[in-house]
Amino acid sequence: MSILNQKTINSKISVSGIGLHSGKNVNLNILPANPNEGISFKRVDIVNDEKIVSPLFNNVCDTNLCTTINNHAGVKVSTIEHLMAALYILGIDNVVIELDSQEVPILDGSSKDWINIIKKAGIKNSNSPIKVIKINKTVEIRNSDKFIRADVSNINLDIDFEIKYPNTMIGSQRNKISVYNDNLEDIYNSRTFCKYEDIDNLKRLGLAKGGSLDNALVIDKFKLLNKEGLRNNKEFVNHKILDCIGDIYLSGYKVVGSITCSQGGHSLTHQLLVKLFSDKKNYSVFELKGKNLPHSLIEKYQLKSIA
Ligand SMILES: [Zn+2]
Repeated sequence: MSILNQKTINSKISVSGIGLHSGKNVNLNILPANPNEGISFKRVDIVNDEKIVSPLFNNVCDTNLCTTINNHAGVKVSTIEHLMAALYILGIDNVVIELDSQEVPILDGSSKDWINIIKKAGIKNSNSPIKVIKINKTVEIRNSDKFIRADVSNINLDIDFEIKYPNTMIGSQRNKISVYNDNLEDIYNSRTFCKYEDIDNLKRLGLAKGGSLDNALVIDKFKLLNKEGLRNNKEFVNHKILDCIGDIYLSGYKVVGSITCSQGGHSLTHQLLVKLFSDKKNYSVFELKGKNLPHSLIEKYQLKSIA
């Protein structure tokens, strides 16, 4: 059995928690799925409409502070990005995610708990090779001084991300990671964040109803309100990289390319995927077999297969 084959989980996972924006309690199950079924969300609370919502870029209906997808009946699933990032990082290709409310639980605001829960359930290989999307041409989305760009890379998925926040302790941070080579612990441990001064406004807009110091870093000008402090010294930009990994997985497969982003977020990453897939010259999709793989990727999947 090749280590490059598609993976699912060994056994059913059940998680309960609240939605960051809805504040509602949600029960979520992750179930094993067959090769080539991909990842799907299933709204088990929906009675009369189509329950299945696929996490694909062309199903994205909202990118304001989180990524929300819907199906043709308008049934939605929101704040999917941290769970999608955990699945990407662990190399999971096929699962069914059942939930009884619209929003995926926020847990601790990072992907740490998702990673631990999935690892505990175990990862199961199949006999089907994984598919990969390779960037063939530079594609860029620019919005004044914010931009995101996908460039060609022969062997990896690199993400180079910078943020620039004026007048707060967040400030400017930049980090560059190699998704298939690096230890991503600092990435998946990094929590979502917001400015204290924005909270009233978010709540007026019906957002962040479930937000607390248990699931978000909150910054009051130059002070972090979370008593336990930061988990790593680039936690803010590392969380943006985590979001970017989760949002890139809405391409449907793992990606080989080089992503550079300044001050982007869910919206820019989504626009990048829309532009990328609007022209078949921009990318190619192929099955990964041992002989056409970089050594680094093979090692990464070997590690995963015994994790
Ligand atoms: Zn996030």
